Formats: sequence, structure tokens, C-alpha cells
Amino acid sequence: MNYFVLGKTGLRVSEVGFGGIPIIRISADEAVSVLKRAYDKGVTFYDTANAYRDSEAKIGQAFKNMRDKVVIATKTQKRDGKGASEHLENSLKMLRTDYIDLFQLHQVAQEKDWEAIISPGGALEAVTRAKDQGKIRHLGITSHSLPMAIKLIKTGLFSTIQFPFNFIEKDAKDELHQTARKLNLGILAMKPFAGGMIDNAKIAFKFLRQYPDVLPIPGFHSIESVDEILSLYTKSNEVTDEDLATMDKYRDELGRQFCRRCEYCQPCPKGVMITPAMGYRVVSMRMSPKVAAESLRQVMETVPQCVNCGVCITRCPYNLPIPEMIKKHYDLFEQHRALSKKH
Ligand code: SF4
Ligand code: SF4
Repeated sequence: MNYFVLGKTGLRVSEVGFGGIPIIRISADEAVSVLKRAYDKGVTFYDTANAYRDSEAKIGQAFKNMRDKVVIATKTQKRDGKGASEHLENSLKMLRTDYIDLFQLHQVAQEKDWEAIISPGGALEAVTRAKDQGKIRHLGITSHSLPMAIKLIKTGLFSTIQFPFNFIEKDAKDELHQTARKLNLGILAMKPFAGGMIDNAKIAFKFLRQYPDVLPIPGFHSIESVDEILSLYTKSNEVTDEDLATMDKYRDELGRQFCRRCEYCQPCPKGVMITPAMGYRVVSMRMSPKVAAESLRQVMETVPQCVNCGVCITRCPYNLPIPEMIKKHYDLFEQHRALSKKH
């Protein structure tokens, strides 16, 4: 395992990190084993979020006696100061620590979110105060909207940017990554498997290893998955013509069904919560059908309000067939809900 310094945070991190979503779907004991296996193989960076259910608690349990050996990043989706402070205190408690190495404002994609964050009494005030108190070492931001991410890093308020990056979603590599490098920000790559759409780890990581200053944070759900992905870091990362052809094939096949969560399609005039509904299938694969049906119930219950007006399709830069896709996801949600009622 190689290590590098994550931009101006000065934090020395392993060249691949650990994404904290998939440990939601395994038991606490299994999660601790998986986390420790990753640590034993050299992974020192662990990314989680208040929104990832018991992920923080599992990470806290795994590293309770070795806090100084790992770098912990977490996030809040709250936009108001009170909510962000409550999330931070909860993260500290769950992670069994008195400081967070990197605290990120989570999924800031829309202007209204940013306005709320920077308004008096907003989340920015609260996290800046917590940083002054030593509870937070560094502030970061995450987004799925490219123009918003570029705007946010230019504010100079953050030390890292986390954005999707994989061989299907590679728009970030130009302006966003280049600007982040100029500003000496740490660059985190979420969704190395395009949210579960890429099922070929070898190709996914060959692509990512072309960018050694970008830290990918794949999710791990088993010891085997840790061993498989980390073994790729001992092999050649040269991308061959055959690899490029494989990547093109994936892009062609997935391009028309892959939601980037950029939120350009919103708002829906009928109140459908389009973006999270578009992500339902991926969430159910990553968390579990039961957890997805529970946690996205309110979102999915807006889908029947769709009247097929097509407004969202005209706004989607990827021309996704949104009404058709969300209806398929709604059928899946109903199956999952029926299943979870049985158990
Ligand atoms: S097609 Fe459906 S989801 Fe899209 S904007 Fe119209 S009502 Fe909303
Ligand atoms: S449906 Fe299209 S516009 Fe809406 S979040 Fe997904 S990729 Fe973006």
C-alpha cells in the first residue's frame, strides 16, 4: 500500500480508502472484522456519514483503542447550524472519539442548500465554531453537481472535495480536479463502481489508479471484498487497449440507465422526489432491500404522483427516461416493502 498527503489537510492517507455504506447491511461483529482486515492490509482512511445508519458506530467499535492510527471522515446533510451541531455531537459519540479528521457538508447540489448553509445560523457557522474548538480538524464538501462543486471549492472554505469519479462518470477529471489541484485541495472519489453499475473491479481500479492523487473510497461488505480490491493495488495499473474497449462497452450499455444524482431534473411540478427515487435500486443493492424500503419510504411514496409530463426529461443532461425508471423502482420498492412486512 502506498500513502500520500491529502492536499492541504496535510493528512497522510492510504492510496485507497474505505467507504462506510455497505457495512450497514452486515452485523456489528462482521463489520468490525471487515474494517480490521482493511486496516491490517494498510487502509488508513475511513469515510462514513451521519446518514449511513449504524456505520459510524461500527467504525467506532472497530477502532476504539487505536484512534490515532486512522483518519476518519464523516458528513452531515443538515443545512442549519443546530442540526449540523447535533449531527457532529452524534458522530463523535458513535465514533467514540473527541475529534473528526474531516467533517464534510454532504451532497450540496442546489443553490438553496448552499444559501441555507451560509446564512446566519446556518451549518457553516456551526462547523466553523466546532473547528475552532478542535472537534473538527478539516472541513470538506461533497456534491453530485459539477457546476456546484466547482463553485464551492472556489470559496476557499474547504480542504477537500468529494465527487463521483469512475470510468463512466469522468467529467470531474477536467475542470473540477484541475481547480482542486491548483487550490491544493484533497480529492476524494466516491462511487468507484458507479454506484454498483460497474461489476468489474479490475477495470474500475485500473482506471482510478491513473490518478494517484485522487483517493477512491470503495465500500466493502466482506473480508473477501477487501482482499479482492486491495490485491489490485499490488498489480500493474497499465490501461491496455483491451481495457479501454471494455470501458467503452460499459459506457454504451449503461449510459441510458445511469443517474448521476446531479439534481438538474428537480423540482417536479407534482412533487415527485425524483433524484432519490432514481437511486432506489442502487440503494437497495448497497444497503439491503429492507433498509432501502424503510429509509426511502417517504421518497418512494411520491412516485405515484408522476403524471408523465416529461418536464424532468427535458432537464436531464443525460436524457434518462425518468418516469419509466422511477416507476420500475416503485415496483421494486413495493416488492421490498411486502418482503419486509413478512419478516
Ligand atoms: S414526468 Fe413525472 S416525475 Fe417527471 S416532472 Fe413530470 S410528473 Fe414529475
Ligand atoms: S435523472 Fe438526470 S438530471 Fe436527474 S439526477 Fe439523475 S442524471 Fe441528474
